[in-house]
Amino acid sequence: MKKWTIGVDLGGTEIKFGLFDDKLQKSWSIPTNTQEQGKYIVEDIAASIKKCCDESGITKDMLKGVGIGVPGPVLKGNVVRQCVNLGWGQINIGDELSKKLGEHFGCDGEELLICAGNDANVAALGEMWLGGGQGCTSIVMVTLGTGVGGGIVVDGKILNGIGGCAGEIGHIICVDDADLVGRCSCGHKGCLEQIASATGIVNYSKLYLEHASEVSVLRDIWKQKGDITSKDVLDAAKAGDMAAVQITDKVFMYLGKALAGICNIVNPECVLIGGGVSAAGEYLRAKVENYFKGYAFPGTEDTPIRLATIGNQAGIAGAAYMVISKNE
Ligand SMILES: [Zn+2]
Repeated sequence: MKKWTIGVDLGGTEIKFGLFDDKLQKSWSIPTNTQEQGKYIVEDIAASIKKCCDESGITKDMLKGVGIGVPGPVLKGNVVRQCVNLGWGQINIGDELSKKLGEHFGCDGEELLICAGNDANVAALGEMWLGGGQGCTSIVMVTLGTGVGGGIVVDGKILNGIGGCAGEIGHIICVDDADLVGRCSCGHKGCLEQIASATGIVNYSKLYLEHASEVSVLRDIWKQKGDITSKDVLDAAKAGDMAAVQITDKVFMYLGKALAGICNIVNPECVLIGGGVSAAGEYLRAKVENYFKGYAFPGTEDTPIRLATIGNQAGIAGAAYMVISKNE
C-alpha cells in the first residue's frame, strides 16, 4: 500500500522534489525562500508535497515517507546543526517537517517516516541506487563543482560521523604550498578543493601560466575574455595544449592521491566522480584512475573509478532512498 516516497533536495536557491516508487516518476522544483532566516522553507516544502500528492491521487496512507538532503551537517535524529546558505541554526528538520506535513494531510505527522541527511552524502546514496554505483553497497563519491564535495556509503548506509563531518573529501590537506594561492574556504591551506574544484583549477592555471613560458591557447583566452574557466582548461588539455596538459595532470595527480588515501580506509566497490568538472568525461576519468593506481595500497588498485551518471537527480534519488531502504 505504501508504495510512494518523496525525495527532497534542499538547496540555497532551489528546492528539488521527486516522486518515487522503484524509480523516479515525477520531478519538480520551487524557489528557496531564505527570507527571515529561512523560516518559511519547511512550510513551503510541506505545501508543495501535499500539492503533488493531490494532483497524483496519493493519500497519506499511500506515502511511505519523505527524505530530505540539506546543505549542512546532519546529526543523529534528523537534527541539522547549521545551514549557512538557508539562514538556519540548529533545527530538528524531522520534527518540523512531520508537524507541517501533519497539518497539511490532516493527520499525526509521525505516521510519515522522515529521513534527513547532508546533501553531498545523500547524492552519493542516490548515485548508488539509480546512477553510476548501481549494484554496489559501498561507494565513495567525489563531486567536483564550485567546491569539492564528497559522500561515503558503507554497507548501504551513509557514513555520517559523530558531528556530521564524514565524507568531507574536499578538505583533505594534500596540496603542496607551491601549487596554491591563498587559503581554503575552511581556513586551512592545502585542501584538495583548492586545486580540484572548478575555482581551484582556474586559480592553479593562472599561477602556472604566470610562471611558465610556453605558448598556450589559455593565454589567448585569458587575454580575450579577461578570464579563463575550468572548462577552457580541460578542453585545451583534451586538444593537446601542452600547458593545459601539465596543469590538468597536476590536478588529476592530487585527485588520484587523495582517492587512493580514502580507498585505503574505506575499501569501496567503486569510486564515482561527479559535478560540473566531471563533464570532461573519459579523459578525466582515465587520467585520475591512472594516478590512483600509482598511489593505491596493494589490494585496492583495481577499485573502478567511474563517472557519476544521474547528475542533479542524485540528490532527490538519495533522499528518497534513505526512506525506501529504511526497513529493507
Ligand atoms: Zn578546506
